[in-house]
Amino acid sequence: MRYEDFYQRSIDDPEGFWAEQARAIHWHVPPRAILEYGDPPFRKWFAGGTTNLCHNAVDRHLDARGDQLALVAISSETGETREITYRELHDEVNVFAAMIRSLGVGRGDRVVIYMPNMAEAVFAMLACARIGAVHSVVFGGFAAHNLALRIDDARPKLLVCADAGMRGGKVIPYKPLVDAACEKARHPPAHVLVVSRGLAPEPAWVPGRDIDHAALRAEFRDARVAVEWMESNEPSYLLYTSGTTGKPKGVQRDVGGYAVALALSMWAIYDVRAGQVMFSTSDVGWAVGHSYNVYGPLIAGATSILYEGLPTHPDPGVWWSICEKYGVRTMFSSPTGIRVLKKQDAAWLRKHDLSVLQWLFLAGEPLDEPTAHWITEGIGKTIIDNYWQTETGWPVLSLMPGVDMKPVKFGSPGLPMPGYRIRVIDEGSGEDVAPGEKGVLVIEPPLPPGCLTTVWGDDARFMASYFSHFKERLYSSLDWAIRDEDGYAFILGRTDDVINVAGHRLGTREVEESCSTHPDVAEAAVVGVRDALKGQVPVVFATLKTAGEDVAGTAEAIRAQVGRQLGAIARPARVYVVGALPKTRSGKLLRRSLQALAEERDPGDLSTLDDPGALEEVRRALGRGA
Ligand code: ATP
Ligand code: MG
Repeated sequence: MRYEDFYQRSIDDPEGFWAEQARAIHWHVPPRAILEYGDPPFRKWFAGGTTNLCHNAVDRHLDARGDQLALVAISSETGETREITYRELHDEVNVFAAMIRSLGVGRGDRVVIYMPNMAEAVFAMLACARIGAVHSVVFGGFAAHNLALRIDDARPKLLVCADAGMRGGKVIPYKPLVDAACEKARHPPAHVLVVSRGLAPEPAWVPGRDIDHAALRAEFRDARVAVEWMESNEPSYLLYTSGTTGKPKGVQRDVGGYAVALALSMWAIYDVRAGQVMFSTSDVGWAVGHSYNVYGPLIAGATSILYEGLPTHPDPGVWWSICEKYGVRTMFSSPTGIRVLKKQDAAWLRKHDLSVLQWLFLAGEPLDEPTAHWITEGIGKTIIDNYWQTETGWPVLSLMPGVDMKPVKFGSPGLPMPGYRIRVIDEGSGEDVAPGEKGVLVIEPPLPPGCLTTVWGDDARFMASYFSHFKERLYSSLDWAIRDEDGYAFILGRTDDVINVAGHRLGTREVEESCSTHPDVAEAAVVGVRDALKGQVPVVFATLKTAGEDVAGTAEAIRAQVGRQLGAIARPARVYVVGALPKTRSGKLLRRSLQALAEERDPGDLSTLDDPGALEEVRRALGRGA
């Protein structure tokens, strides 16, 4: 089928389209309506239908593929690999569900999961889904403060954690962080269930509150727990955005719409069917981890690979060796991940047999052209840039190899995915801009199945954050974009970050990409800094591939290059060379903090900052001058 026809059908007849897609999942009670939209922008997909994410991800496959691998959890940190069939997964999830139920968790209760990429994190998520509890996975290793904030937002009955995570061989004990977070929190959980891998020394134990997973598990061997049938629009989980632009938002997801959207995306976008293998390098704590390490591949009856460890350990070929060993068909990673590999010898890309691998999807931030070319040529596969948000839960923009593979255009994440009515509009007038012109990427509601239903406990914030920017109630992506004549979209950066130089508006992407074509530049971040004359001027922070002798000369060359490529208006006023750039834990540049420091303001919410040292570097560089 042609992409155009498939997409257009989803727009012209959404109810017919989604009714058809809904057949891919199991419904205990079929929906009474495909869409109820009486209270815009709130909408209810598959209203009245009852289903269960765990049933669709696990139980439903037992007859046809009980002995097939469901999950392979590989840790290059501990050296352990666990291969788990659908039948084994079913056993584990039932036992886990019985355990958490014995701790008082029931339908609608929240459970915070604070774990690294290990099999038990998946068991815990699916166990919650099975009994209708709402999980909130918090990226393992977040500081106690962040964990406490998320605990207070969710008010969980239970927190499930590991004794420790590991990164680059270094053990990070989690239990002390959990203890500190519970102390700080106003609404701490009644119980903490600790899964120990024996990595950290025996932690302090709070009697009555803390429960040892291994001991409790022994009590529930062979337990079976019936699936709780959930109304399609009940909450399934909460997940916080990365916090790149401010305080993270607690995205609330539903049950039925999410299952249907994932089922569609698995075959249509990721081109993965039952029995095939998908490898996403994400952490379970991110949106990609939820959708494409856990629920998506399992709903599809595929095998999902979960990886704990660095992309460079034990060697920079580790991802490709996994692809070879398990016959990975589709891989999913991020531009940040690929840029880490880019600092290594490209020969590592060719050491393994990748004949089964068809597609590499990359999402999370702009995929710069030099990186896209490097990896495309390096592995000789098609790279598909994927644009989405924690809020949407699945891609907004992509190509659809499972339906009709359109040509890749470097620099563009492609075309709108089914159900997304996207437009690019002028920030001031709210009118659609012409092809090739810049504007804000918006989605006309109702948002398709799979997207957030609200911000947890805060409908007002849901409205204010996403639907209050334009006269019409449009969903603002808060991203700045262009669409070309063929309908391909190009993301230019965040609307908050747009740089206004004497009335000319520049996306951060354009300037950063121009900087990164300089042979010495590893990565660049640009921000608009207040200027008395021009309103704002672009200021660049760059890391270099090798610490060259003539840093000042390189900085000058970068300025000149941007001026040549984009015009004098875009030429950076200053270029600061630093050792590292501040990023969120999910690998996104924290431009708002760079801008604040450059304007001598407070750097703002730093709760999701990965490496505080990077901000210190920036402070020092600013002190030294350009
Ligand atoms: P917050 O909303 O809390 O500020 P965040 O937007 O970084 O954090 P995420 O939901 O993890 O949180 O990230 C989504 C954003 O990532 C998008 O809005 C966009 O800015 C960026 N992004 C994701 N994929 C792409 C892509 N393929 N190309 C360009 N940008 C992308
Ligand atoms: Mg966002």
